[in-house]
Amino acid sequence: MSTRRPFIGGNWKMNLHQGEAVDLALALADKITGDSVQIAVFPAFPYLLPVATVLHEKGAPIAVGAQDVYTQSNGAFTGEVSLSMLQDCGVSTVLVGHSERRHVIGETDPLINDKVLAALEAGMDVILAVGETIEQREADKTDSINTGQLGYGLAGVSDEQMKRVTIAYEPVWAIGTGKTATPDDAQRAHMVIRQAIAFMFDQAVADGVRIQYGGSMKPGNAAELLAQTDIDGGLIGGASLKADDFAGIIQAAAATV
Ligand code: PEP
Repeated sequence: MSTRRPFIGGNWKMNLHQGEAVDLALALADKITGDSVQIAVFPAFPYLLPVATVLHEKGAPIAVGAQDVYTQSNGAFTGEVSLSMLQDCGVSTVLVGHSERRHVIGETDPLINDKVLAALEAGMDVILAVGETIEQREADKTDSINTGQLGYGLAGVSDEQMKRVTIAYEPVWAIGTGKTATPDDAQRAHMVIRQAIAFMFDQAVADGVRIQYGGSMKPGNAAELLAQTDIDGGLIGGASLKADDFAGIIQAAAATV
């Protein structure tokens, strides 16, 4: 069990149209009270504003995050969305380097680093996602991939800015597959990530940073994962689309406090 405040994020990915997204936000607002767990949901871009609006109206302790962002503030960048536009829509947190951005869309480590730096400069909170593919895991490269992605992603970030950074460890083979890292395997990877952060910054920064686990976390396996020393929350895909499941995971996180 960790002494850091647990942080649970719900990544809705390219799911839910407006009515469904708003209904889910309203259902979560009804179910979730208290602030022992930090909570954020990540709707698709077009629904950030309506979701942020209903959560704000309900006074729900749930922040709204964006699944991606662009580095530039305005101009000829067709299809992209800037940090100030997101802030205009009530967004306080951005997710950077999700495995689907890395492996499906083809984002590179330098672009991910630019996004992290731009978001922090704009005053946003950042979740930086890292994780190995199954081939990398089988080739015994889990630690080198994770520490490499961390090193690139966090280059140029200050100790002070690290207070607004959360790391999501998401083994790519566990995302959306129903396969979950065992609590021991996940704990080991999180411990290595925390050691790498101590090496890059210092022990105080490493002790303060939250490291979420992501990869088929559900109400049935959340408690065991969240009980691990270096697991400080979760980034949830599939199970965040159902209010009861997401609330169940938040409940499991609250029980560790
Ligand atoms: C994710 O989208 O970051 C994720 C972990 O998805 P799932 O929970 O569905 O594996």
